Amino acid sequence: MSTKLEESLSTERIYMSKPDVGELEEQYVLEAMRSGWIAPLGPDVDAFEAEMKARVGVDHAVALASGTAAIHLGLLAMGIKADDIVVTSTMTFAATANAITYTGATPYFVDSDAITGNIDPELLQRALQELVEKGTPAAAVVPVDLLGKAADYTAIEAVCREFGVPVLADAAESLGATHAGKQAGSFGRAAVLSFNGNKIMTTSGGGMLLTDDEDLAAQVRYLSTQARQPVVHYEHTDIGYNYRMSNLLAALGRAQLSRLDDMIERREMWRNKYREFFATVPGIEIFGGNDAEDNYWLTSIIVDPAVTPVSSDELRAILDQANIESRPLWKPMHMQPVFMGSAGTITGVSQGLYERGLTLPSGSQMPEDQLVRVLKVLADTLRREPQ
Ligand SMILES: *Cc1c(COP(=O)(O)O)cnc(C)c1O
Repeated sequence: MSTKLEESLSTERIYMSKPDVGELEEQYVLEAMRSGWIAPLGPDVDAFEAEMKARVGVDHAVALASGTAAIHLGLLAMGIKADDIVVTSTMTFAATANAITYTGATPYFVDSDAITGNIDPELLQRALQELVEKGTPAAAVVPVDLLGKAADYTAIEAVCREFGVPVLADAAESLGATHAGKQAGSFGRAAVLSFNGNKIMTTSGGGMLLTDDEDLAAQVRYLSTQARQPVVHYEHTDIGYNYRMSNLLAALGRAQLSRLDDMIERREMWRNKYREFFATVPGIEIFGGNDAEDNYWLTSIIVDPAVTPVSSDELRAILDQANIESRPLWKPMHMQPVFMGSAGTITGVSQGLYERGLTLPSGSQMPEDQLVRVLKVLADTLRREPQ
């Protein structure tokens, strides 16, 4: 091999989580195209919904254009309307809070448990109590499963039952994870998945609403297809949306779902290698606690700058110089300019995780030599000696 080629290979950019698609996906999409079902809906959408229902263990699934659309319609179908208050986790991607605002409701942010970053059930209880006392009880709770770890639904569902508030679980990041042995996506009155490009499986863009509630599923389906009444002429009595998944993308999703366990296994391998590496690095911990019920979507670390030679932000810059992508944890919603005025129950835990957290390359598509390159840069930086 020429040195030039060697050089270009060794400096190829390493991404955090590139879509993992190949020949199987090509074959499924090509077959869907050749079948003539190009428009939204079709046999691959039906099959994708059926396969996902079976996988997660729920009665109904509605494939949609995105996870954001699924949150939006899930809230509408649960009766959320203008001026309602919807409680959610401050430690999340903006999509969760954005979708709440689409209904005209106001998000109310609750801070994190220090280990997992997921919504702290005791704070949630306090928030729901305070909202009742103020005369503005919460209309719904949207817990978020952060970076592949399901929230503590045992505690969350108990608290929400006590206050009579329905739960819409944002499981966009947790497909394949479990809580108390039950699949992520099977909790709450309904749950939402995302198949965006960087998620554990992708349809390039897409999402799904999962529920055991037949009426809720029917309402989401109805709203997602422009709220058309079942008559031959186009009759409308509600405002609808164009939120259904296209048949071609569902075909891609079916190929991905058939490989989901293999892709999870590969991400688990990276997690284990990172764990082994950081076990001997003082001041750095793998984020999230133990892995028993994780889907290993992304591996993140928490850096204690008082102990390590660099901060998480300096480490990110060093990795970037070596052409390796890494990213801080989600910047909490209560710190975002757009949501700065929103109310919440905030302790500062999520802010600390944001300031010290860094997500490392974790994709199932990543070749092993790329992980070796990441570990080499980490070793050079953190140990100041070769591994
Ligand atoms: C990705 C994501 C979403 C949004 O899903 P899209 O399919 O990108 O619309 C919602 N919530 C969380 C927590 C996410 O990570």
